[in-house]
Amino acid sequence: MHAEVLINLPARRLDRTFSYRVPIALEGQVTTGSLVQISFGRQKIEGYVTSLRNPDGPEPAGIKDLSAVIDRGPVFTHEQLNLALWMSSYYLCPTVSALQTIIWPRLARSSRQAPGLWPLSPPGLEVVFKRAPSQKTAWETALSQPGLTRLELAAAAKVSVSAIDALTAKGLLIAQKRAGKHLLNNFVESRPFDLTAQQKTAFDPIFDRLKKKEHEVFLLNGITGSGKTEVYCHSVAAALRMGRQALILVPEIALTPQMLNTFHSRFGEEVAILHSRLSDGERRDEWLRIKEGSANVVMGTRSALFAPVQNPGLIVIDEEHEPSYKQEESPRYHARTAALEIAKNKQAVVVLGSATPSVESFFSASFAGAYQLLTISERVEKRSLPKIQVVDMREEIKKGNQELFSQALLSSIKDRLGKNEQTILFLNRRGFSTFISCRECGQVMKCPHCDISLTYHINGRLVCHYCNYTVGAPRFCPSCRSSYISYSGTGTQKIELEIKRLFPDARVLRMDSDTTSRKGSHQKILDTFCQGNADIMIGTQMIAKGLDIPAVTLVGVVNADLTLYMPDFRAAERTFQLLTQVAGRAGRSDLGGEVMIQTHSPEHFAITSASEHDYQAFFEQEIKNREILNYPPFTSLCRFLFTGTVHMEVENAAKTLYNILSEIVNSEGLNNQVQVFNAVPAPVNRIKNRYRWHLISRALSVKQLQDISRACLNEFDHRYPSSKIRIIVDIEPQNMF
Ligand code: ADP
Ligand code: ZN
Ligand code: ZN
Repeated sequence: MHAEVLINLPARRLDRTFSYRVPIALEGQVTTGSLVQISFGRQKIEGYVTSLRNPDGPEPAGIKDLSAVIDRGPVFTHEQLNLALWMSSYYLCPTVSALQTIIWPRLARSSRQAPGLWPLSPPGLEVVFKRAPSQKTAWETALSQPGLTRLELAAAAKVSVSAIDALTAKGLLIAQKRAGKHLLNNFVESRPFDLTAQQKTAFDPIFDRLKKKEHEVFLLNGITGSGKTEVYCHSVAAALRMGRQALILVPEIALTPQMLNTFHSRFGEEVAILHSRLSDGERRDEWLRIKEGSANVVMGTRSALFAPVQNPGLIVIDEEHEPSYKQEESPRYHARTAALEIAKNKQAVVVLGSATPSVESFFSASFAGAYQLLTISERVEKRSLPKIQVVDMREEIKKGNQELFSQALLSSIKDRLGKNEQTILFLNRRGFSTFISCRECGQVMKCPHCDISLTYHINGRLVCHYCNYTVGAPRFCPSCRSSYISYSGTGTQKIELEIKRLFPDARVLRMDSDTTSRKGSHQKILDTFCQGNADIMIGTQMIAKGLDIPAVTLVGVVNADLTLYMPDFRAAERTFQLLTQVAGRAGRSDLGGEVMIQTHSPEHFAITSASEHDYQAFFEQEIKNREILNYPPFTSLCRFLFTGTVHMEVENAAKTLYNILSEIVNSEGLNNQVQVFNAVPAPVNRIKNRYRWHLISRALSVKQLQDISRACLNEFDHRYPSSKIRIIVDIEPQNMF
C-alpha cells in the first residue's frame, strides 16, 4: 500500500502530497485521515494521510516507509478534506493551514474541569434524608448554589466527599458540563413570542426551504429592534424539528450576552457555545456534546462554523456585515463565504442578518439575484426609531465653543440625568490623547517599533496600540528638550474625565478594551449599567451592538468623523453601519429615544442617510461610487502584503511580484479584465520592527484573480528561492492598513 501524505507544515512550497510506502507492520493501523510520522529530508515530521492506494506498476525510486502512526484517527472526514481543499484554492493558503482550521482541535485527552452538580427533587426526599443529615445539608447547598463541582460542593456544605458521591449515586445530583456558563450569570427566562406579521413574512420562506431541504441564501435586512433574533429562534426550532442542526454565528460572544441568553432559554442544553476564550477542556467538552448529538444548536464566533455537526440544516450569520468574520491570519477566510460553501454541499439554508447589510451582500440580494432579500422595516410593537439629530461642530466653533461636547448634547445629557434615564456616549478611540507632539519642533511621539503615533493613557503612560510598547510620558521633547508638549486627539478616557468634571454627581462607566481586559469585567460593567446603577456609559464600538437596554433614551456620538476619513474604500460603509448600530441602542422602550451625532461633515451622505434611518438611500449612493471607482462588488480585490526587517528587501520583493504579475496579465492578454496597482509602502509602513509594502490587484471575477495570483506566487517562489520576506496573500481583504 502507498499513502499520500500532506506535510503538517504550513508552507506554500510544501503544499502538495508526498507518497510513502505503508510497511507491513503498520498496515491496518493507517487509514485516510490518519496522522503519521514520516522522514522528510533528514527530519522526522508529521503528516496527514489523504488517500491510500495499491500501487500499479513499479514503485517510484527512493520511496520511503511511513515511520509511525501518531493517531490512527481518522482525524478528519472526507468532507472536511474537501472543504480544506476548497479553502486552499479560494484563499491561496496551504491546504494544511485550512485543514488545521477545520478539523478537531487536538486537545488534552480529557477536560481538567470537573462537571458541575445540579440537584433534583423527586418526591419522598425526606425519607431519603432521614438517616443522612450530611447528605441533606449537601443537597440543600446544591439547591442554593447549583453548578458547583464535587469538591467545591463538599467544601461549601462542610461535608465529606463521600456524602456528595452518595447523592450522585442516588440520582439526586446530576453532573453536567456546561461551557461558557459564566456567560449566563444573569440568566433570565425568555419565552418565545408569536411572530409579528413582518417577522412571519420573513420566516415563511426560510421555513419553506428548510422543509424542502433546499439550499438557499437569505439576506434578512431588519432594522435595529425589529426582532431578528426571534426569526432566528423560530428558524432554529424548525431545523431541529426536521432532525437537523443549526449553527448561529455572532461577531463576538462577549458582546452578545442577550442573544446567548435567549437561545439558552429556548433551547437549554441543546446549545453548545464555541468561542476563542474557552479553555481547552471547555472546548473539548462542547465539541464532544456536539459530536455525540446532545447539542444540536451551536452558537459561536467565526470558527464555530467548523463544529462537528452531522447535518446542519441552518446557518445563521448575525450582523453579517461585521469585519470580524474575516480571519486576519492564514487562512484568511471569510465566515460568510465559507458558510455558503458548506451550506451548498449540505443543502442547508443560510440566513444573513443585519440592519446594515454589507454593500456586497445587499447587492447580491437586490441586483445579482444570488440571495433572497427578506425585509423587516418596523420595530416590534411599532416602537418608533429614535430621532437622530446631526450636530454641526463647525457651527459650535463659530459660536466660540471649542469643547468636546456641543451645547445641544450637553443639555440633553443634563435632561436625562434629571429624569433618571440613561445615556450612552460613543467614541471609537480608546486612551486619553491620541496625538502627542512638541510645539517647538513639531516632533510627534511615535512608537519606536511601529509607524504609529503613541496614545497617552490616563495612567501617565504612552502606549502603542499596535504592539503595546509602553513608555512614561516625556516631560521634555526627546529631540529639542522643549517642555512645550501638546496633547491632542480625544479618546474615551478624556471623555470620561470631561463628563465627570461637567456632571460631578453622575455615575459614569467606561467600556473599552482597557477596562475589559480581565475575564468577566465586561459583564460586570454591563450588569452595573443594565441594572440602572450608572447614568452614563462611555465606550468604543464594544457598546455599539447587541445591547437592548430599555432605560437608554439618549445616545451621543462624540465624533463621527473618525471612521469617515480612513484610507479605505469601505470608510463610508463602516461609518454608516457604526452610526446606525449605535443609534439603535436608543429608544428601545416606550420612553422613546434620541440620538445626537457630532460631526464636521454633516452633509456627507453616510451621515445624512444614517440620520434618516435610510439604508436604501445610503446604498444607492454608495453603489454608484463603487461602480465609478471599480470597487467591490463590481470587482474582486487581492492584496499582497510583504513584511521584513530590511526595508530594501521588502521593497524589492514587492516590486518583483509587481513585475511578475504584470507580465502574466500582459502575456495572457488580460489587460481589460485585471488591473495591477504599483507596489507601494503600506499605510502603516512598519509594525513591530517589520517594514511593510503592499500591492493590490483587482479583477472582474474572483476566479480570475485567484488563478492569476496563484500563477504569480509560483513564479515568485521560483525566482526568490529562499527569502527572508514574509508574503501575505489576502483574497477579498477587509483591511488595508
Ligand atoms: P434586533 O436583533 O432585530 O435588533 P431584537 O431581536 O433584539 O431585535 O428584538 C428587539 C426586542 O423585541 C427584544 O426585546 C425582543 O424580546 C422583542 N421581540 C422580538 N420579537 C417579538 C414579538 N414577536 N413580540 C413581542 N416582542 C418581540
Ligand atoms: Zn521638540
Ligand atoms: Zn508599536
